Amino acid sequence: MKAARLYGVRDLRVEEVADPEPGPGEALIRIHTCGVCPSDLRSYLGARPGSGALSLPRTPGHEWAGVVVALGEPVDDAPADGQAPSIKVGDRVVADWRYVCGRCYQCRRGVFNYCENLRRGVRGGFAEYGIAPLSQLRVIPDHVSFEEASFCEPLACIINAHSYTQISLGDDVVIVGAGPIGLMHLQLARNRGARVIVSDPIATRLEKARELGAHDVIDASAADPVARVNELTEGRGANAVIIAVGAAEAIRQGLAMATINGWVNIFAGTYPPVELPVDPNLIHYRQLRVTGSHDFTPHHFTTALRLIQFGIVRVAPLISHRFELDDVREAFETTAGRHGLKSMVLPTP
Ligand SMILES: [Zn+2]
Ligand SMILES: [Zn+2]
Repeated sequence: MKAARLYGVRDLRVEEVADPEPGPGEALIRIHTCGVCPSDLRSYLGARPGSGALSLPRTPGHEWAGVVVALGEPVDDAPADGQAPSIKVGDRVVADWRYVCGRCYQCRRGVFNYCENLRRGVRGGFAEYGIAPLSQLRVIPDHVSFEEASFCEPLACIINAHSYTQISLGDDVVIVGAGPIGLMHLQLARNRGARVIVSDPIATRLEKARELGAHDVIDASAADPVARVNELTEGRGANAVIIAVGAAEAIRQGLAMATINGWVNIFAGTYPPVELPVDPNLIHYRQLRVTGSHDFTPHHFTTALRLIQFGIVRVAPLISHRFELDDVREAFETTAGRHGLKSMVLPTP
């Protein structure tokens, strides 16, 4: 089969490799779609020290969906969320790459996203075929496309973040950054009954934010976003701020935008690592709740598919570019250049 293989910084090649074989309890899947994720990009650009430590060459891609074409020997492996393991050849499926053990200290206290025995059982999606343990697959409802299902992974991360960010009916919520991630945060905040303000320096992204339900947008290239949030909230600031860009200045602004008892979620990793001078009095005297969030649990992944299934979060409008597998490098460069929104690679066009 054909597969993309990462050899080093910006060195991603499409090559012929041996067809994968499903082991016991695994499925072989013909991959239809795989989204390019900011975390794929970090390994591609060599931006995250340590991520290059994973052995090279390797096939990246974890936001993938396709059709089951073969099954390995059956094993007794009940899925973590109780879904019956009734995967059959011909099923349309989406793969949850975070294969957690369910037995370690973190899993037993419900913090599955920090499983101490995370297994790498789901293999790279920028390829014609992929392998995944049956417990990691969810059947895609008929009217949900492969492309839409590929958003389960990033949307699951967003659902996790919202469990650490309290949003009440009528709250003023600011989303800093209107990339694909910010635009999903926007829709979730709207669904929770908030008045949503989106800040970004790119005009086309702000247009998309309006289209997806933002009540107000701030052009961060023209206005001071903190002053503008104050104007839009009668000088109070926002009840919740979600920072969906990995930049020190965005975090500084996010903290300054929050009102008394406000929540500030630092959603994105910041690369290269930076130091941020913060006046602790800002947090102390305003009783701010500053949270981090990272990755997701199996239940968040299942929930993400439901939000897509019922149109609670619309993901199709976030796709700006489509590429064949042979052009995967162009897909990465497009995302690296922040052109458009989500780049989708289609190994089976
Ligand atoms: Zn991702
Ligand atoms: Zn575990």
